[in-house]
Amino acid sequence: MERAKVYETIRNTAEEITPKLIEYRHDFHKYAEGGWLEIRTGSLIARRLFEMGYDVLVGGAVMKPEARMNLYTEEFFEKEYQRAVRQGADPEFAPYMKNGMTGVIGILRCGNGEEPHPPARVLTTAEEAHRDTENDAAPVIGMRFDIDALGIPESEDPEHQPVKCGYASVNNGFMHACGHDSHACIGLGTAEILMKIRKELKGTIKLIFQPHEEGVAGAAEAIVANGHLDKAMYLISSHSTKQTDESDEEALYPGMHGMLATSKWGVVMHGRSAHAGGSPEKGHDALLAAATCILELNAIPRHSGGISRIGIGKVRDDSVINAISDEVHFDFEVRGQTNEICQYMERKAKLVLDHASAMHECTYDLVRKGGAENFASSEGLMKRVRRVCEQDLGMKLPETDSMKGSGSEDVSYMINKVIANGGEGTFMRILTNVEDIAHSRSYNINDEKILTNGAKAFAGVVYDICSEK
Ligand SMILES: [Zn+2]
Ligand SMILES: [Zn+2]
Repeated sequence: MERAKVYETIRNTAEEITPKLIEYRHDFHKYAEGGWLEIRTGSLIARRLFEMGYDVLVGGAVMKPEARMNLYTEEFFEKEYQRAVRQGADPEFAPYMKNGMTGVIGILRCGNGEEPHPPARVLTTAEEAHRDTENDAAPVIGMRFDIDALGIPESEDPEHQPVKCGYASVNNGFMHACGHDSHACIGLGTAEILMKIRKELKGTIKLIFQPHEEGVAGAAEAIVANGHLDKAMYLISSHSTKQTDESDEEALYPGMHGMLATSKWGVVMHGRSAHAGGSPEKGHDALLAAATCILELNAIPRHSGGISRIGIGKVRDDSVINAISDEVHFDFEVRGQTNEICQYMERKAKLVLDHASAMHECTYDLVRKGGAENFASSEGLMKRVRRVCEQDLGMKLPETDSMKGSGSEDVSYMINKVIANGGEGTFMRILTNVEDIAHSRSYNINDEKILTNGAKAFAGVVYDICSEK
């Protein structure tokens, strides 16, 4: 098929499937599931990929279990599993999603001359997944779509669009306040378009549906640790973003830079309890030690080399007023404009913990709860995205290729891995008009524009890479 015809198919298919993608989006929004709990969401994605003809990787095939952080108790996981089953999780795929193994990868094996398309398989171990899905002669192209909701309750305001239209979250305490419901649907739309133009593609194409992006608790690291990007030369990813131009015509930024490296930590300060009135000198006050830490963490000198950040959250002490506190829990995070600045903040933070705890004769345990690296989109891939979107797909793009960001994203592990392979990665910003701001209780996105443009852009760029001689 000639190039223009392929792009016509991409455009038309994206338009055709948009109503279905909107339905999927509303469904994922209604049954919002937080990080490690995306059982219903993940199982339905797996089902749809399988029905399209993709090899579907689930369970241990996707993530290395021990690379994940901040997991729930077994009891809580079981309760959530039952909840997902009641809410219509796919009965075949849901069992693979138990205990936080909620990632899904769809693999399209192209250019192997097999016609009709080989039957789809379900692969459940990393070994199986690598054995015969990768074809050395052609590039491995990875795409990443995050699927988790945020741990906040959704607004009940009757003017809030999901309330008005009956798809507000029914899972109390969880809502899609960051647009990942749309990312999951863009992934499914891309999968459908690519299957339609399969004969025009080559190599191995991986659609990675990643759980638990919020809080960067190791899902991306666990997918990289399983070797899924070892041979990848491209990694394409995106996030929904509030449109900035008045006319609302601009479709997307080809890439992004400025995202901060971060690490998240949980501290348990241990002291010794004693009567606060009768024998305070016999106690070692964990609360005072923690309070000293919190003040001094905020006093870490800022780095002259770029942005540095510190944040403290969730301080918990269950002691009583007339006893010296013997156990206090708190979390903190550090961020840096570069990985080095982030490491500087970590080193200083550990000095604070060592010395503030010693000062009060306390000890502490420290666990890593999450992390992300600094990254920037590759110039070459951003240029490719712009060329495809403008020339082949007829979209209007902002003047600059790369949007500046300020948060953190664990897609950084995937992009940096592919760049280390000698390849290219990008994190596009797909524009749409939104209700309120991201991470607020009344956030919502406009479906139509983002789902159509997102699926078109991903599929269009993949075809462009494959069509190179
Ligand atoms: Zn978010
Ligand atoms: Zn997000």
